[in-house]
Amino acid sequence: MSAAPIVDLRSDTVTRPGAGMYQAMVEARLGDDVYGEDETVNRLETTAANLLGKQAGLFLSSATQANLVAMLAHNARGEEILLGEEYHIFCAEAGGVSALGGIVMHPLATDASGGLTLEQVMAAIKEDDPHLPISRTLALENTVSGRVQDPEHHRHLAGAVRAQGLKVHLDGARLMNASIALQQPAADIVAPFDSVMLCLSKGLGAPVGAMLCGGIEFIARARRLRKQLGGGMRQAGVIAACGQYALEHNVARLADDHERARLLAEGIGDIVGLPVRQHTNMVFIEPRAQDLEPLRQHLEAAQVLIGHQHPPIRLVTHLDVDDDAIERAVEAIHYYYR
Ligand SMILES: *Cc1c(COP(=O)(O)O)cnc(C)c1O
Repeated sequence: MSAAPIVDLRSDTVTRPGAGMYQAMVEARLGDDVYGEDETVNRLETTAANLLGKQAGLFLSSATQANLVAMLAHNARGEEILLGEEYHIFCAEAGGVSALGGIVMHPLATDASGGLTLEQVMAAIKEDDPHLPISRTLALENTVSGRVQDPEHHRHLAGAVRAQGLKVHLDGARLMNASIALQQPAADIVAPFDSVMLCLSKGLGAPVGAMLCGGIEFIARARRLRKQLGGGMRQAGVIAACGQYALEHNVARLADDHERARLLAEGIGDIVGLPVRQHTNMVFIEPRAQDLEPLRQHLEAAQVLIGHQHPPIRLVTHLDVDDDAIERAVEAIHYYYR
């Protein structure tokens, strides 16, 4: 008996390149990107900027590095970012903006949708007072743990804080999931933002990389900061080719991930003692404390991997999760609760 393939629902970061993506790597035209001579990187930067409706783009090694570079470009030491307390920059990037940039973070309580209210944000902008940091940037996120944010509300927030002289950044690690779910072009969603980060190695399925897009001057600053951080890569077209392939082939198919997440949530939705909710490509389950480890072990024995966080536990669909995988996950979870 051959072992069934592993169903890895821990994250959409676990995907591996398929044959087409590997072929794109092999065929990539390369040069020294620090000299601006890697055609594949240049093409990807133009593609991303066009996709997001911005003047310029920059290819970076990770979404964390792209957020860090964006925050260093917008804020000086002693200046402040307003952001949601559950947003990635605040809680999952090792405090990089503070550690490396001397930037203050003011986390605001997010509501059930993952959003911030206009009142909250406006109240957090500091007066010109030597006791206080200078509020410089509002950093928003879309999606927030799978939850699509209302573009109209983002437009509202952005307009209000820009009138106060702040910059607005979007951590759009999963922006294309929001774009597909809303059936709205990404460029429209991000039009109110000065800078936008898009991760290539989540649902889009590239092995490495993220894009930062914005105005020409902003991207020029970001390029220097990337170099300072050791992020200037040479024949980076080898990996940029994957990003290019991802933007050309893996965006529309995010709808499949959302549909499979819906099927997974529906399939386990009637289990007593297991609250379930679903947003785009994420399903969240809340097993009782006594079920936590036994459930995880039971699933692992059935070759189904789920997150190790405290409940709610995340089950994430992606490129390497097909219909059969969803069926197996649903069956295995039902078997535990039978
Ligand atoms: C994953 C993620 C990041 C960071 O991505 P890495 O590529 O792991 O650095 C940033 N923001 C959000 C919202 C994310 O989900």
